[in-house]
Amino acid sequence: MKAGIVYHDDLLAYDFGGGHALRQLRVKLARDLIQAYGMIDGSAEELRPKPADVETIRRVHTADYVAAVETLSADPRGASYEHGLGTADNPVFRGMFEATALHAGATLLACAEVGSGRRSRAFNLGGGFHHAMADRASGFCIFNDLALGITSLLEDHGMKRVLYVDIDAHHADGVQAIFYEDPRVLTISLHEDGHYLFPGSGFTDEIGKGKGEGYAVNVPLPPYTRDVSYLYAFQEIVPPLARSFKPDVIVAQLGADGHELDPLTHLCLSTETYEAVARILGELSNELCKGRWVATGGGGYAMTAVPRVWTLAAAQMAGATLDDALPVAWLKECNQLAGEVPAGKSLRDHRREDEEAHVPRAAKRTVEELRRNVFPFHGLR
Ligand SMILES: [Zn+2]
Repeated sequence: MKAGIVYHDDLLAYDFGGGHALRQLRVKLARDLIQAYGMIDGSAEELRPKPADVETIRRVHTADYVAAVETLSADPRGASYEHGLGTADNPVFRGMFEATALHAGATLLACAEVGSGRRSRAFNLGGGFHHAMADRASGFCIFNDLALGITSLLEDHGMKRVLYVDIDAHHADGVQAIFYEDPRVLTISLHEDGHYLFPGSGFTDEIGKGKGEGYAVNVPLPPYTRDVSYLYAFQEIVPPLARSFKPDVIVAQLGADGHELDPLTHLCLSTETYEAVARILGELSNELCKGRWVATGGGGYAMTAVPRVWTLAAAQMAGATLDDALPVAWLKECNQLAGEVPAGKSLRDHRREDEEAHVPRAAKRTVEELRRNVFPFHGLR
């Protein structure tokens, strides 16, 4: 079974206009790098998404909000501040509904491929809109493709437990809120501490509510967190909770904005961390849920970093081994479209480390707090 890579050029129509930080060009560059490495029609297969329909989108979003997106999409001269639309973060644009529905449909396709057993792994490079709330847009996110995909895995594909792991540098507040009282979905978000970064939430005491108590997990990390501390926190929290939760499928949001080149956040990760995280997620999926693993993209605003991060993740999903020298044709394209190429023309960063010898106290404290606050709900200490 080849891994599925979900992509369509129409995903680039999700465009807030010049000057906005989010540029879907990164999705095309990622897809083209994966292709340049020979993975498409090699160890992976490209899948073409269709837009999600209104009825499906309403499974997660309020009818009011969906209607507001549709109206402003047809006539983008207004705004709907109660729905978070028309702000500096989420400007409205013509065709916004169609572009957003296609992203949702792309994650739904990845979930359907894995949920139906057609393949064990699928990666929607364009998805990952984890800030979108049931009734409003937030943080460049309009429809929450992740929540729609998870809902479909639960309701349409007989999955009883979904492990959601989010490594975007921003807190996965939308996905967390939508499943906050639902013990079928264990959400784990690792992110830069909300004291320093949007959306200002995701602290260790946000652990879920009602039946969902213990099923929301937040791992805030201080600005300038580097590979060693990040991987320490990931290893201490994710595998033990995953093993005790025993998911039927893993859904991972692989936002790449924690990379050290990213202009919007203050985490300092290298590509090596992303590759390691993807490797661990792959191993956990093999160990716990027959390899079932859906991934999406997410944030990521450095054009020379995001395609490399997602290509490394795709290789882990597909079981491909990639040469470190970036393909010449892709370098040309990257230079032409993004106006720059990765330093060293290399897939991996190979950061020469002055890396910390010890994990800083803040990361250790976060892990300690979670062991105290959340682990007991899962019979862990
Ligand atoms: Zn982000």
